[in-house]
Amino acid sequence: MNIIKIEKKCHLQVYKRNEIVVKKASGKYIYDEEGKKYLDFFTGVSVCNFEHCHPRIVSAIKGQLNDYMHVSNLYYAPVQVNLADKLISRSFKGKVFFSNSGAEANECAIKIARKLDSDKARNKKRYEIITFNNSFHGRTLATLTATGQEKFKKGFEPLPVGFKHADYNDINSVKKVVSEKTVAIIVEPVQGEGGVVPAKKEFLVQLRKLCTQKKLVLIFDEIQTGMGRCGEIFAWKVYGVRPDIFTLAKSLGGGLPLGATIVAAQYDGVLGFGDHGSTFGGNPVSCAAANAAIDLLDEELLKNVKEVGRYFMQELLKLKSKHKVIKDVRGLGLMVGVELTEKGAAIVKKCQDNGLLLNCTKDYVLRFLPPLTITKKDVDTTIKILDKVLKSVENIRFRPLKQSGRRLPS
Ligand code: PLP
Repeated sequence: MNIIKIEKKCHLQVYKRNEIVVKKASGKYIYDEEGKKYLDFFTGVSVCNFEHCHPRIVSAIKGQLNDYMHVSNLYYAPVQVNLADKLISRSFKGKVFFSNSGAEANECAIKIARKLDSDKARNKKRYEIITFNNSFHGRTLATLTATGQEKFKKGFEPLPVGFKHADYNDINSVKKVVSEKTVAIIVEPVQGEGGVVPAKKEFLVQLRKLCTQKKLVLIFDEIQTGMGRCGEIFAWKVYGVRPDIFTLAKSLGGGLPLGATIVAAQYDGVLGFGDHGSTFGGNPVSCAAANAAIDLLDEELLKNVKEVGRYFMQELLKLKSKHKVIKDVRGLGLMVGVELTEKGAAIVKKCQDNGLLLNCTKDYVLRFLPPLTITKKDVDTTIKILDKVLKSVENIRFRPLKQSGRRLPS
């Protein structure tokens, strides 16, 4: 029985997998069982920002494996402490909590917000958290409730209370839902699962102002936007707007599972001994990989993200002028979305057949999350494949019917 059949028999069917059985992944490429090579412009949803199996990350992992794989968080692991130090030195005065995933990193932020007023009388305690329509924050019960898309919540009711949603990029909509019960706001600098929608700078500036005025905790979910993806190590640095807490996961571990919640000094005493924890959180091997990944994220690489990101956008805009099926091109750095006038699944499949991996989010938005190392030549390869695929799709839509001379409807 082949792998796909076994998977259908043995794994919960929660993933709509593409029919690629991965044999190897190295650098910018993934290879399937038949030896077919794919240029990976998806990087496992922005996990392999530093390519697949980067030699320096692999070497750091092996080095740590020579010492140990795991010790309890009831002991000190220097590799974990060094990573916390690295993250803080690149952020602001504060502290870090390590977990294993994005949802967990957000859970920690939510727990800090919930605990903030715990010494107040029950009727004075603020507990509501505002998040945004179209946002995505994870799959645990709290984070899916925080998520601003109904499809992820259906059937899981009753959901935790205390989450309100406002419209993204609309400060008046936020002001309308802020109440005396509001304690925090969670926002993605660029909505990823929501269709690659960047925040407007003015919106984040206004959010910061509002949170400062009303003493609300401003939390940035940087799980997809962090680790260089948008042109700076964290996207809040691109915007010049400082959150009070921000969360990381995905590419933080250089390909291994790791989450982090970075908390400004003002809030670092909110969680005390026993208030939070994780058996695996901040695993030493993942931390070794993360230390190597951060070391790779130097000025050169960030410059590359900005330069090649701009070039990619410019070439996509040229494609837009050629193909009516492209409605919009948007993004920040190397987090890029192409909104189509029709559903994108068939286009993703055709790109895959042509050796290019990408993904489609919100049904209509092609999402590109390439390695941060890509060159203009890689962009050219991608544009060429996309151009060919879009042409073929348009040819199908408007293929003349030989006998009748009629054109097929779009
Ligand atoms: N937050 C954002 C912005 C995400 O994009 C994701 C995952 O796609 C998550 C949270 C959840 O991360 P994880 O799947 O690691 O729990």
